[in-house]
Amino acid sequence: MRILQPFDPWKSKLCTCSPKLSFNPYTGCAHRCLYCYATYIPRFWEVREKRDLLRRLEKDLERLESGVLISMSNSSDPYPPAEKIKELTRKCLQLMKEHSVRVLVVTKSDIVARDVDLLAEMRAAVAITITGRTAKQLELNAPSMEKRIEALKMLHDAGVPTILRLDPLLPWASKEEWLEVLEACSFVDHVVTSTLKLKKDGYGRIVLHFPQLKEKLDELYFRKGEKVGSYFYLPEELRRSMLKVVEKKCHELGISCAFCREGVPFKARSCDGSHLIR
Ligand code: SF4
Repeated sequence: MRILQPFDPWKSKLCTCSPKLSFNPYTGCAHRCLYCYATYIPRFWEVREKRDLLRRLEKDLERLESGVLISMSNSSDPYPPAEKIKELTRKCLQLMKEHSVRVLVVTKSDIVARDVDLLAEMRAAVAITITGRTAKQLELNAPSMEKRIEALKMLHDAGVPTILRLDPLLPWASKEEWLEVLEACSFVDHVVTSTLKLKKDGYGRIVLHFPQLKEKLDELYFRKGEKVGSYFYLPEELRRSMLKVVEKKCHELGISCAFCREGVPFKARSCDGSHLIR
């Protein structure tokens, strides 16, 4: 089986991504985000190396057409704590660099800054998800917001195109915390944002940890919201008003802004920030 797979974000009819390939150096994720959408994968919280990863990646890279974009990762994080020792993702980046492919790194970890030397010489951009102080409470093992911002800044200062994924916007968070993140990341090249979508298992984990949210979530997602594929969305009017807050602030800061799987138009050249990659 090929290790580079077509990017197929949950077959969402609202996805606006250009064609790209998806690559996960690890299976499973250690960050333990309560809202995670990928927990249908067995033993998901256990981070495992993929069998024969480097050989399979090299084989797939050899038959790639030039200009193809690889997104790493979409259903795990390429920088789990184990990466500090294993350096598997780093070895994959080295291979991708040799093949001169375009790479979009997507992570919640500050470990990515360790690879700044490689990334600065590659056709690459780095997106770091930073969610704000309330959302951070839902990411049980992920690095702090401050560490993620520092990592983004270090990459930016080294000339790597940087993207802030302000995602997910929570309906019970205050807009001030989104503005705080945007102010702190005003150096980035692009922002992509998205409201919290719920799957049943993610909903179950959130209300188990925060039972006081149950009534509000039931009302917003299951009584007033809508279902798109296997996801429950907030009511459209509420989503638009939340996205507007971020878009307006990005406009003031002079940063391009896009929305992920919202069905709401945006002006940026791409949603995921891939337009920044040479
Ligand atoms: S970082 Fe992503 S893949 Fe990992 S637990 Fe959080 S949402 Fe899931």
